[in-house]
Amino acid sequence: MPPYFSRMKNHLEITHKEALKLIPDFITGQLTLQETEMLMNHIDHCPDCKEELAINFLISAGLAGLERDGNINLQEELDQTLENARHKIRMHHFLHQTIIALEIVGIVALLAVAVWIIVRL
Ligand SMILES: [Zn+2]
Repeated sequence: MPPYFSRMKNHLEITHKEALKLIPDFITGQLTLQETEMLMNHIDHCPDCKEELAINFLISAGLAGLERDGNINLQEELDQTLENARHKIRMHHFLHQTIIALEIVGIVALLAVAVWIIVRL
C-alpha cells in the first residue's frame, strides 16, 4: 500500500502513552475535535485506557460534585460526557460529508450549465 493511504488509514490511531496524555485535557474539555476523536477511537478498543479515563473522570467529577451538592450519578455523567464527545465527532463528519456532497452537486451543476451553453452556441 502506498504510504499516503496507510497514513490516511492510521492517522487517528494513537499509542497508550499518547492516549493517557490526552485524558486530563479531555476531562477539562480542552481537546480539539481531532484529539477527542483519536482518544475515543483508542478507548473503543483499549479497555485499559478507558478505565484510566473513567477513573480520572470520576475523581474530577466527584470532587466537583462534592462542591456542588454531593449527590450525583457519576457513571451517568461519564456516559453522558462520552456520548456528547461522540455526538460532536459524528456531527463533524456529517457536516464534512454534506459539504463534500454539496461541492460535487455544485460542480455537476456548473458542468451542466457549461454543456448547456456550449450546445446552444
Ligand atoms: Zn490504551
